[in-house]
Amino acid sequence: HNNWIFRGIVRDIVKLLMEKALANNEFKLWLQPKYDIRTHKVISAEALVRWDSPDMGFYTPAEFIDLFERNGFIMQLDYFILSQAFELQKKRRDKGLPIIPISVNQSGLHMNENGYIKNMMEIVKKYGSPRDAIVLEITETAFVDYATKSARNKSLSIVQKLKDMDFEISMDDFCTGYSSIAMLETFPIDEIKIDRAMLLSAEKSLKARKILQTMINLGKDLKVRVVTEGIETVEQEQMLLGMGCFTGQGYLFSKPLPRDRFSDFVNDNLNVKSED
Ligand code: C2E
Ligand code: CA
Ligand code: CA
Repeated sequence: HNNWIFRGIVRDIVKLLMEKALANNEFKLWLQPKYDIRTHKVISAEALVRWDSPDMGFYTPAEFIDLFERNGFIMQLDYFILSQAFELQKKRRDKGLPIIPISVNQSGLHMNENGYIKNMMEIVKKYGSPRDAIVLEITETAFVDYATKSARNKSLSIVQKLKDMDFEISMDDFCTGYSSIAMLETFPIDEIKIDRAMLLSAEKSLKARKILQTMINLGKDLKVRVVTEGIETVEQEQMLLGMGCFTGQGYLFSKPLPRDRFSDFVNDNLNVKSED
């Protein structure tokens, strides 16, 4: 019984701590470029959150995302990061800098959140259309509940509404779930992101290589952009080039960067340079 009360208290303290951190701007928008493997030019970027706490230090998502998924705080954090991404785009536009699309991760919890669509519409109303500026990355296993037909239809209707608001949809962690291909048929997907695990398997086994090749071809056939994540070596780039996958993301090209360094990186590595 005491243990139960104790856990309740800890839960409340943790929640207060996170809300304080959000109010104090301790969560930072970091960005990792996605690039053309053929030309090594930046094409777009992914928003990745970091927690920079003056009291506790600097944390990457591995250290807090699970907790935030369990207590639901991730939903608030997602709105914050999305707003930050919109603001960054606005700043670039105001300065006359070229805009590249920024992908923002969306937790699967939004699927069952009351008011998700309403909240997203409010953000769009505040910042303007996400067209060509903001992409939403959703993980099929988290975002789409395939257990029942009604759950599936509900997810589909939510994704459709996001599309109607002019968000593009990227399916994250492709090739790690169990229903990826079915989802490609039903859902309005603009991009798939092939998980790093698939890339690593493909380096080791012929079977995995055939699956990867088939996924790349399928994406192309369906006119869906195919991005491979987690490229760390030149050998991986060469393999992907040979397979016809021309968009990548990974430490070899660039690690996730804080906003200022990201802006410099984009200015130095973009196809079209702005006159400034
Ligand atoms: P993810 O969406 O799959 O993001 C890609 C992760 O791979 C990032 O980890 C990135 O730093 C890492 N990565 C990129 N290139 C390489 C590489 O070459 N090698 C290796 N080994 N890793 C690479 P990060 O930033 O630690 O984020 C981890 C996960 O946390 C993300 O995985 C995503 O699921 C989640 N996440 C991050 N930011 C947010 C957010 O704002 N909202 C939500 N809901 N989830 C987020
Ligand atoms: Ca992602
Ligand atoms: Ca991923």
